[in-house]
Amino acid sequence: MSFESLGLAPFLLRALAEQGYETPTPIQEQAIPLALEGRDLLAGAQTGTGKTAAFGLPLLQHLGTNPQAVDGPRRPRALVLTPTRELATQVHDSLRGYSKYLRIPSACIYGGVGMGNQFDVLRRGVDLLVACPGRLIDHIERRSVDLSGIEILVLDEADRMLDMGFLPSIKKILAKLPRQNRQTLLFSATFEESIKQLALEFMRNPEQIQVTPKNTVAENISHRVHPVDGPRKRELLLHLLAQDSREQTLVFGRTKHGCDKLAMFLDKSGIKTAAIHGNKSQGQRLRALGDFKAGRVTVLVATDIAARGIDINELPKVINYDLPMVAEDYVHRIGRTGRNGSTGQAISLVAQDEAKLLRQIVRLLDKDMDIRDVPGFEPQTPIRWGNSAPGKAELPGGDRSPRKHARRPHAEAPRHAHAGPKKAGGGQRDGAGRGAPRGGQPQGQRRGGGNTGGGRSQGGGGGRAS
Ligand code: AMP
Repeated sequence: MSFESLGLAPFLLRALAEQGYETPTPIQEQAIPLALEGRDLLAGAQTGTGKTAAFGLPLLQHLGTNPQAVDGPRRPRALVLTPTRELATQVHDSLRGYSKYLRIPSACIYGGVGMGNQFDVLRRGVDLLVACPGRLIDHIERRSVDLSGIEILVLDEADRMLDMGFLPSIKKILAKLPRQNRQTLLFSATFEESIKQLALEFMRNPEQIQVTPKNTVAENISHRVHPVDGPRKRELLLHLLAQDSREQTLVFGRTKHGCDKLAMFLDKSGIKTAAIHGNKSQGQRLRALGDFKAGRVTVLVATDIAARGIDINELPKVINYDLPMVAEDYVHRIGRTGRNGSTGQAISLVAQDEAKLLRQIVRLLDKDMDIRDVPGFEPQTPIRWGNSAPGKAELPGGDRSPRKHARRPHAEAPRHAHAGPKKAGGGQRDGAGRGAPRGGQPQGQRRGGGNTGGGRSQGGGGGRAS
């Protein structure tokens, strides 16, 4: 399958080729032809699947081939809502890259920065708006943005937006959009009832597509658990990181304060580390991410929400310093490793009080986990895994009362927590009905290279992050 065969216009194909995209990813294969037909989409795809191009390319093709008849101020025609500033920036940057040979004025609107520049760019007029809900509401209330001309709406990481409490804001925004002739593309890693409700309310007979079955992870990722006493986690983490101090590693912590303390500890111990979480300023977060991507720091310690949507390719290892409170977040966390078919490793440091969380994760993943002590770090308090463990999992220890070091003869001898037979996976789609195909001539197509005009970038509001 090639990008040409998906029906994309030459001005997009050229930009994709320059970015080294050769073949579409599964979500792109499924989403692009349907979105080009004007269908509403309910797409199940996580970060790392190529979802940005899956909604971005059809959106740009629509804008590029159906020029706006400007009589009066330019109003936005496409709106992409994202939960966090980082994701908004990334999506905006990606769309600007894909629209290199188009002239599509755009803005990226999120909170935590002044509104002045945003007022200016909105007043000058944009076709495309990438925004976090909170700051967009501010603009709606100040009447600095007019959403009555929106033709395409994208809800990116809809599940996360709802988790973050953005549902009332999203509904407020939706109430400002035209209901008729609007195409809505909703992307979400999971489909809780609340997402389905939202879709029912605001979408027209959406086509459902999915690239990975709900809550599954790539097969090429190995999952390892190191039991450890809580107070010794820092030492164990340092020990593991020191084994290859140049390996880029993303470490997840549960709290902002905990992440800061951990980052400081690692840094003092000689491992170049940065932390990323919601208490950091926008500048600090972007700098930390940039330093990590460029290899200036080897370890990035992050909270779940701050890390959501950050685009780091081919990360070999993710370490869960704390297990996430919600099992689904484990899936999001390790979605950062093992991308594009490369192998990945997910390591979790698990203390006694996290045994229940681990059981929930194994049950959700339906996957084997390799549980092994690290010599010198065997827990003093053996972990009570419980017999109700994950699926058919044979997690050691059962519900027996804790025994000291009595569970296995050799610390490094691996045991496996089995999760039973694998569920069938793979792409699937359902739904029916076709809208009118879109077509026409490219607007403002450029000759030659260079992204010299068109899109204007602008920072701004809304995305909260933990
Ligand atoms: P996303 O899921 O949109 O965050 O994309 C994950 C990463 O994959 C980004 O770095 C994209 O630039 C990259 N990507 C997306 N689609 C393709 C493709 N068809 N070929 C190669 N890389 C891609």
